[in-house]
Amino acid sequence: MRAFAYNDGEIKDLRLGGRVFVLAAKAWVDMRQALYQSISREASKALLWNIGHRYGVSLTKKTLKAVTYEEEVARALAEIATYSGWGYVKLIGEVGKPEFAIEFRNCVFCVGVKDQKEPECSFLEGVISGILNTLYGNRFQTREVECIAKNDTRCLFAAKPQM
Ligand SMILES: [Zn+2]
Repeated sequence: MRAFAYNDGEIKDLRLGGRVFVLAAKAWVDMRQALYQSISREASKALLWNIGHRYGVSLTKKTLKAVTYEEEVARALAEIATYSGWGYVKLIGEVGKPEFAIEFRNCVFCVGVKDQKEPECSFLEGVISGILNTLYGNRFQTREVECIAKNDTRCLFAAKPQM
């Protein structure tokens, strides 16, 4: 199935509906860098996390309406991430188990960034947190524990059950 349709200067998302646009991966990285410099790195990360979180919540609500069975939601969201060009997504372990994690290979959000001390994908961490909290209630704390930007081979988001 085609994911997008182009018409009259617009790109429509054929799966979830609504208009989308293309943003160069390098532009995203440059914008984040500019944000780090204009406010602090910590404040930028918190801001990006919150934007991502809201996006994850809305993405999940739309996806829940689009699928027939709730079990399809996780797979559908992984497909959305892949057709959106975010990277290759794999769920590791079982939801709710201590080792449950979401792996992104070839993650777009830190493309070209290296040698960082901390993970850089706060936006994506927020998106994943928004998705999990919408699907399963506020039961998970999501943290990016590996990141290509700090020279790991993948970006890995651990979802630990909250106390
Ligand atoms: Zn990352």
